[in-house]
Amino acid sequence: MSVDKKKIWLSSPHMGTRELEYVKEAFETNWIAPLGPHVNAFEEELQEYNGISHAAALSSGTAALHLALIILGTQPGDYVLCQSFTFCGSANAIHYTGATPVFIDSESNTWNLDPNALEEAIQTIRSQKAKYPGKIKAIMPVHLYGMPAAMDEVLEISQKYEIPIIEDAAESLGASYRGKKTGSLGDLGAFSFNGNKIITTSGGGALVSDRKEWIEKARFLATQARDPAPHYQHSQVGYNYRLSNVLAGIGRGQLEVLDQRIEQRQHIFQTYVNWFSKWGLNWVGQQGDILSQSNRWLSAFDLGPSDWKPEAVRRALEKDNIECRPLWKPMHLQPVYSDCPYFGGDRAEKLFQNGLCFPSGSNMTQEDMERIQKALEECLANPNPNDQ
Ligand SMILES: *Cc1c(COP(=O)(O)O)cnc(C)c1O
Repeated sequence: MSVDKKKIWLSSPHMGTRELEYVKEAFETNWIAPLGPHVNAFEEELQEYNGISHAAALSSGTAALHLALIILGTQPGDYVLCQSFTFCGSANAIHYTGATPVFIDSESNTWNLDPNALEEAIQTIRSQKAKYPGKIKAIMPVHLYGMPAAMDEVLEISQKYEIPIIEDAAESLGASYRGKKTGSLGDLGAFSFNGNKIITTSGGGALVSDRKEWIEKARFLATQARDPAPHYQHSQVGYNYRLSNVLAGIGRGQLEVLDQRIEQRQHIFQTYVNWFSKWGLNWVGQQGDILSQSNRWLSAFDLGPSDWKPEAVRRALEKDNIECRPLWKPMHLQPVYSDCPYFGGDRAEKLFQNGLCFPSGSNMTQEDMERIQKALEECLANPNPNDQ
Protein backbone atom coordinates (compact mmCIF):
# COMPACT_ATOMS: atom_id res chain seq x y z
CA MET A 1 0.00 0.00 0.00
CA SER A 2 1.41 3.38 -0.92
CA VAL A 3 1.46 5.16 2.40
CA ASP A 4 3.00 8.24 0.83
CA LYS A 5 -0.37 9.10 -0.67
CA LYS A 6 -2.96 10.82 1.48
CA LYS A 7 -5.75 8.49 2.57
CA ILE A 8 -9.07 9.03 0.83
CA TRP A 9 -11.73 8.00 3.33
CA LEU A 10 -15.09 6.46 2.54
CA SER A 11 -16.85 9.26 4.42
CA SER A 12 -15.20 11.55 6.92
CA PRO A 13 -16.45 14.44 9.06
CA HIS A 14 -16.72 17.76 7.25
CA MET A 15 -17.10 20.78 9.48
CA GLY A 16 -18.61 24.03 8.29
CA THR A 17 -17.70 27.45 9.64
CA ARG A 18 -19.82 28.02 12.73
CA GLU A 19 -19.50 24.76 14.71
CA LEU A 20 -16.54 26.03 16.76
CA GLU A 21 -18.36 29.27 17.52
CA TYR A 22 -21.26 27.33 19.02
CA VAL A 23 -18.90 25.07 20.99
CA LYS A 24 -17.07 28.13 22.37
CA GLU A 25 -20.40 29.59 23.39
CA ALA A 26 -21.13 26.40 25.36
CA PHE A 27 -17.78 26.75 27.13
CA GLU A 28 -18.18 30.45 27.83
CA THR A 29 -21.62 29.96 29.36
CA ASN A 30 -20.49 26.76 31.15
CA TRP A 31 -23.31 24.72 29.61
CA ILE A 32 -21.19 21.55 29.58
CA ALA A 33 -24.12 19.27 30.29
CA PRO A 34 -26.57 16.87 28.64
CA LEU A 35 -29.03 19.73 28.41
CA GLY A 36 -28.80 23.44 27.71
CA PRO A 37 -29.60 26.11 25.13
CA HIS A 38 -27.83 24.39 22.21
CA VAL A 39 -29.77 21.17 22.82
CA ASN A 40 -33.06 23.08 22.78
CA ALA A 41 -32.10 25.10 19.71
CA PHE A 42 -30.78 22.03 17.87
CA GLU A 43 -34.08 20.24 18.51
CA GLU A 44 -36.06 23.18 17.17
CA GLU A 45 -33.84 23.46 14.11
CA LEU A 46 -34.21 19.72 13.45
CA GLN A 47 -37.99 20.03 13.70
CA GLU A 48 -38.06 22.89 11.27
CA TYR A 49 -35.68 21.26 8.79
CA ASN A 50 -37.60 17.98 8.76
CA GLY A 51 -41.08 19.49 8.86
CA ILE A 52 -41.99 17.60 12.00
CA SER A 53 -43.41 18.94 15.27
CA HIS A 54 -41.19 17.29 17.89
CA ALA A 55 -37.58 16.16 18.21
CA ALA A 56 -35.44 14.84 21.07
CA ALA A 57 -31.66 15.12 20.70
CA LEU A 58 -30.00 11.91 21.93
CA SER A 59 -26.61 10.28 22.36
CA SER A 60 -26.87 8.06 19.27
CA GLY A 61 -29.10 6.80 16.49
CA THR A 62 -29.23 3.40 18.16
CA ALA A 63 -30.50 5.05 21.35
CA ALA A 64 -33.21 6.80 19.29
CA LEU A 65 -34.37 3.47 17.81
CA HIS A 66 -34.29 1.83 21.24
CA LEU A 67 -36.48 4.55 22.78
CA ALA A 68 -38.86 4.45 19.80
CA LEU A 69 -39.41 0.75 20.41
CA ILE A 70 -39.99 1.26 24.15
CA ILE A 71 -42.46 4.06 23.42
CA LEU A 72 -44.45 1.65 21.24
CA GLY A 73 -44.51 -0.79 24.16
CA THR A 74 -42.12 -3.36 22.68
CA GLN A 75 -41.45 -6.16 25.17
CA PRO A 76 -39.80 -9.56 25.39
CA GLY A 77 -41.70 -12.02 23.21
CA ASP A 78 -42.83 -9.38 20.69
CA TYR A 79 -41.73 -9.20 17.06
CA VAL A 80 -40.39 -6.23 15.13
CA LEU A 81 -40.28 -6.46 11.34
CA CYS A 82 -36.93 -5.07 10.29
CA GLN A 83 -35.17 -4.65 6.98
CA SER A 84 -32.39 -7.25 6.88
CA PHE A 85 -30.13 -5.21 4.60
CA THR A 86 -28.95 -2.66 7.18
CA PHE A 87 -26.34 -1.69 9.74
CA CYS A 88 -26.49 -3.68 12.99
CA GLY A 89 -27.79 -0.65 14.95
CA SER A 90 -31.34 -1.28 13.67
CA ALA A 91 -31.39 -4.91 14.84
CA ASN A 92 -29.48 -4.32 18.07
CA ALA A 93 -32.05 -1.78 19.24
CA ILE A 94 -34.76 -4.43 18.78
CA HIS A 95 -32.70 -6.97 20.70
CA TYR A 96 -32.24 -4.56 23.64
CA THR A 97 -36.01 -4.63 24.24
CA GLY A 98 -36.05 -8.43 24.39
CA ALA A 99 -38.18 -8.60 21.25
CA THR A 100 -37.24 -10.78 18.28
CA PRO A 101 -36.25 -9.08 15.05
CA VAL A 102 -37.97 -10.63 12.03
CA PHE A 103 -35.82 -9.84 9.03
CA ILE A 104 -37.25 -8.87 5.66
CA ASP A 105 -35.57 -8.90 2.25
CA SER A 106 -35.05 -5.86 0.00
CA GLU A 107 -36.73 -4.89 -3.27
CA SER A 108 -34.76 -4.04 -6.37
CA ASN A 109 -35.41 -0.31 -6.92
CA THR A 110 -34.50 1.17 -3.56
CA TRP A 111 -32.67 -1.86 -2.07
CA ASN A 112 -34.90 -1.29 0.99
CA LEU A 113 -37.79 -3.14 2.67
CA ASP A 114 -39.61 -5.38 0.17
CA PRO A 115 -43.36 -4.75 0.65
CA ASN A 116 -44.29 -8.22 -0.64
CA ALA A 117 -42.01 -10.01 1.81
CA LEU A 118 -43.21 -7.65 4.54
CA GLU A 119 -46.85 -8.56 3.95
CA GLU A 120 -46.00 -12.25 3.75
CA ALA A 121 -44.26 -11.99 7.13
CA ILE A 122 -47.28 -10.31 8.75
CA GLN A 123 -49.75 -12.82 7.35
CA THR A 124 -47.57 -15.78 8.30
CA ILE A 125 -46.94 -14.56 11.85
CA ARG A 126 -50.59 -13.70 12.44
CA SER A 127 -51.88 -16.99 11.05
CA GLN A 128 -49.39 -19.37 12.68
CA LYS A 129 -49.98 -18.68 16.36
CA ALA A 130 -48.26 -21.86 17.54
CA LYS A 131 -45.06 -21.07 15.72
CA TYR A 132 -45.21 -17.29 16.27
CA PRO A 133 -46.89 -16.67 19.64
CA GLY A 134 -45.82 -13.01 19.99
CA LYS A 135 -47.32 -9.73 18.78
CA ILE A 136 -45.88 -7.58 16.01
CA LYS A 137 -45.06 -4.18 17.52
CA ALA A 138 -43.46 -2.22 14.70
CA ILE A 139 -42.24 -2.14 11.13
CA MET A 140 -38.72 -0.74 10.73
CA PRO A 141 -37.86 0.33 7.18
CA VAL A 142 -34.35 1.70 6.63
CA HIS A 143 -33.50 4.39 4.08
CA LEU A 144 -30.17 2.85 3.18
CA TYR A 145 -27.33 5.00 1.89
CA GLY A 146 -29.80 7.89 1.89
CA MET A 147 -32.35 6.31 -0.47
CA PRO A 148 -35.92 6.40 0.87
CA ALA A 149 -37.71 3.04 1.07
CA ALA A 150 -40.85 2.41 -1.01
CA MET A 151 -42.94 4.25 1.57
CA ASP A 152 -46.30 4.30 -0.29
CA GLU A 153 -46.45 0.51 -0.07
CA VAL A 154 -44.98 0.32 3.44
CA LEU A 155 -47.45 2.93 4.73
CA GLU A 156 -50.34 1.10 3.12
CA ILE A 157 -49.34 -2.16 4.83
CA SER A 158 -48.87 -0.31 8.11
CA GLN A 159 -52.44 1.05 7.89
CA LYS A 160 -53.99 -2.19 6.65
CA TYR A 161 -52.54 -4.27 9.50
CA GLU A 162 -52.42 -1.45 12.09
CA ILE A 163 -48.74 -1.75 12.85
CA PRO A 164 -46.79 1.47 13.47
CA ILE A 165 -43.67 2.43 11.52
CA ILE A 166 -40.33 3.42 13.02
CA GLU A 167 -38.20 4.84 10.22
CA ASP A 168 -34.50 4.18 10.59
CA ALA A 169 -33.44 7.42 8.89
CA ALA A 170 -29.91 7.26 10.34
CA GLU A 171 -28.40 7.48 6.85
CA SER A 172 -31.00 9.61 5.12
CA LEU A 173 -31.14 12.99 6.86
CA GLY A 174 -32.38 15.48 4.26
CA ALA A 175 -33.59 12.85 1.79
CA SER A 176 -37.22 13.08 0.76
CA TYR A 177 -40.10 10.96 -0.50
CA ARG A 178 -42.91 12.67 -2.42
CA GLY A 179 -41.37 15.92 -1.15
CA LYS A 180 -41.57 14.90 2.54
CA LYS A 181 -38.39 14.46 4.53
CA THR A 182 -37.50 10.95 5.63
CA GLY A 183 -38.07 10.49 9.35
CA SER A 184 -41.38 12.36 9.07
CA LEU A 185 -43.22 9.72 7.01
CA GLY A 186 -43.83 7.06 9.66
CA ASP A 187 -44.96 7.25 13.28
CA LEU A 188 -41.47 7.83 14.67
CA GLY A 189 -38.15 8.52 12.94
CA ALA A 190 -34.54 8.08 14.11
CA PHE A 191 -31.50 10.03 12.91
CA SER A 192 -27.81 9.50 13.59
CA PHE A 193 -25.04 12.09 13.81
CA ASN A 194 -22.24 9.56 14.10
CA GLY A 195 -18.82 10.53 12.74
CA ASN A 196 -19.26 9.10 9.25
CA LYS A 197 -22.85 10.26 8.59
CA ILE A 198 -23.80 13.10 6.26
CA ILE A 199 -23.53 15.55 9.16
CA THR A 200 -22.04 14.72 12.53
CA THR A 201 -21.85 15.77 16.17
CA SER A 202 -18.97 13.25 16.53
CA GLY A 203 -21.60 10.97 18.07
CA GLY A 204 -25.28 11.66 18.52
CA GLY A 205 -28.80 11.01 17.31
CA ALA A 206 -32.37 12.22 17.43
CA LEU A 207 -35.87 10.84 17.67
CA VAL A 208 -38.64 12.71 15.86
CA SER A 209 -42.42 12.45 15.73
CA ASP A 210 -45.55 14.53 15.32
CA ARG A 211 -46.83 13.12 18.62
CA LYS A 212 -45.81 15.39 21.45
CA GLU A 213 -46.37 12.87 24.25
CA TRP A 214 -44.03 10.37 22.59
CA ILE A 215 -41.13 12.80 22.33
CA GLU A 216 -41.74 14.02 25.88
CA LYS A 217 -41.59 10.40 26.96
CA ALA A 218 -38.32 9.96 25.02
CA ARG A 219 -36.77 12.92 26.87
CA PHE A 220 -37.97 11.47 30.17
CA LEU A 221 -36.60 7.98 29.47
CA ALA A 222 -33.34 9.45 28.16
CA THR A 223 -32.67 11.18 31.49
CA GLN A 224 -32.97 8.11 33.75
CA ALA A 225 -36.78 8.40 33.96
CA ARG A 226 -36.73 10.83 36.83
CA ASP A 227 -40.18 11.56 38.26
CA PRO A 228 -41.04 15.15 39.24
CA ALA A 229 -39.87 15.44 42.87
CA PRO A 230 -37.12 17.39 44.65
CA HIS A 231 -35.30 14.15 45.47
CA TYR A 232 -34.46 11.48 42.91
CA GLN A 233 -37.63 9.46 42.49
CA HIS A 234 -38.00 6.68 39.90
CA SER A 235 -41.00 4.55 39.08
CA GLN A 236 -39.51 3.00 35.95
CA VAL A 237 -36.15 2.13 34.42
CA GLY A 238 -34.56 4.90 32.40
CA TYR A 239 -31.47 5.44 30.29
CA ASN A 240 -28.65 7.95 30.01
CA TYR A 241 -29.27 8.84 26.37
CA ARG A 242 -29.30 12.65 26.15
CA LEU A 243 -27.05 14.63 23.81
CA SER A 244 -24.40 16.90 25.33
CA ASN A 245 -24.93 20.65 24.95
CA VAL A 246 -21.36 20.89 23.56
CA LEU A 247 -22.13 18.36 20.84
CA ALA A 248 -25.49 19.96 20.08
CA GLY A 249 -23.43 23.08 19.30
CA ILE A 250 -21.56 21.12 16.62
CA GLY A 251 -24.91 19.86 15.36
CA ARG A 252 -26.27 23.39 14.96
CA GLY A 253 -23.30 24.40 12.82
CA GLN A 254 -23.60 21.19 10.78
CA LEU A 255 -27.31 21.66 10.16
CA GLU A 256 -26.53 25.04 8.58
CA VAL A 257 -24.42 23.31 5.90
CA LEU A 258 -26.54 20.16 5.48
CA ASP A 259 -28.14 21.17 2.18
CA GLN A 260 -24.70 22.01 0.84
CA ARG A 261 -23.40 18.59 1.96
CA ILE A 262 -26.31 16.86 0.23
CA GLU A 263 -25.56 18.68 -3.02
CA GLN A 264 -21.89 17.75 -2.75
CA ARG A 265 -22.67 14.07 -2.15
CA GLN A 266 -25.23 13.99 -4.97
CA HIS A 267 -22.59 15.50 -7.23
CA ILE A 268 -20.03 12.83 -6.24
CA PHE A 269 -22.59 10.10 -6.92
CA GLN A 270 -23.35 11.58 -10.33
CA THR A 271 -19.63 11.72 -11.11
CA TYR A 272 -19.36 7.94 -10.60
CA VAL A 273 -22.47 7.40 -12.71
CA ASN A 274 -20.95 9.51 -15.50
CA TRP A 275 -17.70 7.55 -15.38
CA PHE A 276 -19.51 4.21 -15.54
CA SER A 277 -21.50 5.41 -18.51
CA LYS A 278 -18.39 6.79 -20.23
CA TRP A 279 -16.65 3.45 -19.70
CA GLY A 280 -19.65 1.58 -21.11
CA LEU A 281 -20.39 -0.25 -17.82
CA ASN A 282 -24.13 -0.21 -18.37
CA TRP A 283 -24.62 -3.22 -16.06
CA VAL A 284 -23.65 -1.24 -12.96
CA GLY A 285 -26.78 -0.97 -10.80
CA GLN A 286 -27.84 1.82 -8.48
CA GLN A 287 -30.70 2.67 -6.13
CA GLY A 288 -33.45 4.73 -7.71
CA ASP A 289 -37.10 5.70 -7.31
CA ILE A 290 -38.87 8.49 -9.19
CA LEU A 291 -40.77 9.47 -6.02
CA SER A 292 -37.59 10.01 -4.04
CA GLN A 293 -34.64 12.25 -3.65
CA SER A 294 -31.73 10.44 -2.01
CA ASN A 295 -29.13 12.42 -0.10
CA ARG A 296 -26.57 9.99 -1.63
CA TRP A 297 -24.84 9.63 1.73
CA LEU A 298 -22.74 6.85 0.24
CA SER A 299 -22.15 6.22 -3.45
CA ALA A 300 -23.15 2.55 -3.48
CA PHE A 301 -23.23 0.51 -6.67
CA ASP A 302 -24.20 -3.01 -7.63
CA LEU A 303 -21.39 -4.33 -9.83
CA GLY A 304 -23.60 -7.29 -10.69
CA PRO A 305 -22.35 -10.55 -12.08
CA SER A 306 -19.39 -9.09 -13.95
CA ASP A 307 -15.62 -9.45 -14.17
CA TRP A 308 -15.37 -6.46 -11.90
CA LYS A 309 -15.32 -8.33 -8.58
CA PRO A 310 -16.08 -5.92 -5.73
CA GLU A 311 -13.41 -7.39 -3.47
CA ALA A 312 -10.75 -7.10 -6.20
CA VAL A 313 -11.77 -3.49 -6.85
CA ARG A 314 -11.73 -2.74 -3.12
CA ARG A 315 -8.24 -4.20 -2.71
CA ALA A 316 -6.87 -2.47 -5.78
CA LEU A 317 -8.07 0.90 -4.48
CA GLU A 318 -6.81 0.11 -0.99
CA LYS A 319 -3.32 -0.24 -2.44
CA ASP A 320 -3.63 3.34 -3.55
CA ASN A 321 -4.78 4.32 -0.03
CA ILE A 322 -8.40 4.78 -1.17
CA GLU A 323 -11.08 3.36 1.13
CA CYS A 324 -14.05 1.44 -0.28
CA ARG A 325 -16.44 -0.76 1.66
CA PRO A 326 -18.66 -3.73 0.84
CA LEU A 327 -22.39 -3.10 1.19
CA TRP A 328 -23.98 -3.97 4.55
CA LYS A 329 -24.03 -7.67 5.27
CA PRO A 330 -27.70 -8.61 5.76
CA MET A 331 -28.69 -9.20 9.38
CA HIS A 332 -30.21 -12.64 8.71
CA LEU A 333 -26.73 -13.77 7.60
CA GLN A 334 -24.99 -12.45 10.70
CA PRO A 335 -23.95 -15.14 13.19
CA VAL A 336 -25.47 -13.17 16.07
CA TYR A 337 -28.95 -13.09 14.42
CA SER A 338 -28.90 -16.39 12.56
CA ASP A 339 -31.75 -17.80 14.70
CA CYS A 340 -34.20 -15.01 13.84
CA PRO A 341 -37.00 -15.51 11.31
CA TYR A 342 -36.42 -14.24 7.77
CA PHE A 343 -38.86 -13.56 4.93
CA GLY A 344 -37.90 -13.05 1.32
CA GLY A 345 -35.43 -14.34 -1.22
CA ASP A 346 -31.78 -13.64 -1.88
CA ARG A 347 -31.87 -10.03 -3.11
CA ALA A 348 -30.16 -8.52 -0.06
CA GLU A 349 -27.62 -11.32 -0.10
CA LYS A 350 -26.85 -10.71 -3.79
CA LEU A 351 -26.44 -6.99 -3.17
CA PHE A 352 -24.00 -7.78 -0.39
CA GLN A 353 -22.04 -10.10 -2.69
CA ASN A 354 -21.94 -7.80 -5.69
CA GLY A 355 -22.01 -4.28 -4.31
CA LEU A 356 -19.42 -1.75 -3.28
CA CYS A 357 -19.46 1.70 -1.66
CA PHE A 358 -17.02 4.18 -3.16
CA PRO A 359 -15.52 7.21 -1.39
CA SER A 360 -18.31 9.72 -0.84
CA GLY A 361 -17.04 12.36 1.58
CA SER A 362 -18.16 15.90 0.82
CA ASN A 363 -14.67 17.16 1.69
CA MET A 364 -12.96 15.28 -1.14
CA THR A 365 -11.02 17.51 -3.52
CA GLN A 366 -10.93 17.49 -7.32
CA GLU A 367 -7.49 15.89 -6.99
CA ASP A 368 -8.94 13.09 -4.81
CA MET A 369 -11.61 12.40 -7.42
CA GLU A 370 -8.96 12.26 -10.15
CA ARG A 371 -6.98 9.73 -8.10
CA ILE A 372 -10.08 7.57 -7.68
CA GLN A 373 -10.86 7.83 -11.39
CA LYS A 374 -7.34 6.76 -12.31
CA ALA A 375 -7.39 3.84 -9.88
CA LEU A 376 -10.76 2.68 -11.25
CA GLU A 377 -9.55 2.96 -14.84
CA GLU A 378 -6.58 0.78 -13.97
CA CYS A 379 -8.90 -1.74 -12.33
CA LEU A 380 -11.05 -1.77 -15.43
CA ALA A 381 -8.05 -2.48 -17.67
CA ASN A 382 -7.14 -5.38 -15.41
CA PRO A 383 -10.32 -6.45 -13.58
CA ASN A 384 -8.91 -9.42 -11.69
CA PRO A 385 -5.29 -8.69 -10.91
CA ASN A 386 -3.13 -11.32 -9.31
CA ASP A 387 -2.47 -8.98 -6.53
CA GLN A 388 -0.79 -11.16 -3.98
C1 LIG B 1 -25.50 4.66 11.82
C2 LIG B 1 -26.71 3.84 11.78
C3 LIG B 1 -27.46 3.54 12.94
C4 LIG B 1 -26.99 3.84 14.32
O1 LIG B 1 -26.62 5.13 14.57
P1 LIG B 1 -25.53 5.42 15.71
O2 LIG B 1 -25.63 6.90 15.90
O3 LIG B 1 -24.20 4.98 15.18
O4 LIG B 1 -25.94 4.66 16.93
C5 LIG B 1 -28.63 2.83 12.80
N1 LIG B 1 -29.07 2.43 11.61
C6 LIG B 1 -28.40 2.68 10.48
C7 LIG B 1 -28.97 2.22 9.19
C8 LIG B 1 -27.18 3.37 10.52
O5 LIG B 1 -26.50 3.57 9.40
